[in-house]
Amino acid sequence: CGITGYIGTNDAKEILLKGLEKLEYRGYDSAGIAVENQDGIHVFKEEGRIADLRNAVDGNISARSGIGHTRWATHGSPSKRNAHPHQSASGRFTLVHNGVIENESELKAAYLRDVTLQSETDTEVIVQLVEKFSQTMEAEEAFRETLRLLNGSYAIAMLDIETPGVIFAAKNKSPLLIGVGEDFQVVASDAMAMIHVTNQFVELLDKEIAIVKKDRADIYNLQGEVIIREPYKAELDM
Ligand code: GLU
Repeated sequence: CGITGYIGTNDAKEILLKGLEKLEYRGYDSAGIAVENQDGIHVFKEEGRIADLRNAVDGNISARSGIGHTRWATHGSPSKRNAHPHQSASGRFTLVHNGVIENESELKAAYLRDVTLQSETDTEVIVQLVEKFSQTMEAEEAFRETLRLLNGSYAIAMLDIETPGVIFAAKNKSPLLIGVGEDFQVVASDAMAMIHVTNQFVELLDKEIAIVKKDRADIYNLQGEVIIREPYKAELDM
């Protein structure tokens, strides 16, 4: 029921976990993070508390970017297998999602009959579609093409092994903010999750995509047109 993302120069796992702890109040049944470094993308997930996830995360792993998630199950039981992040069949794409994809069975039938799904979630359809389209398109276009097909609500953050240094984000009817820092950017469902690292946020609106890098975030609509939006200062009582 919450998303965090970080890309910058500090210890990503710690910032992601701390962010998820701040989102605990929203309720959840499982949690996970994926971090990216020179060796690839490393996924950790657990059913239960963030404290359990923290214990499961390799404390020695050094990474400067990643995504995190707390899940409130809508499709598929609360379990480690259904916990996010979810990965595409080849492992290229790794994705977290809040919300509900209403046309998941139609999309599976139309595009994914040859893919063995690894979870019971509606979310996995998204990441498998991105991989399918990426066979003939650039990652960004495959992401956009996938989002155009989705009916329902989503806040999404995604990593692509072949596009290191980028978090792909998008939203429709579920909240998602980009947080702006000196030499980092964050993604969060709620400013509260990241107020310990920045108070400058840019709101994503429905059916917008953000391509988030450590020194900038570019926002587009689903037609690929650039959207210019200034950050605002979040004033939260701590
Ligand atoms: N529908 C997704 C699932 O069941 C995401 C739920 C959520 O918003 O946490 O896994």
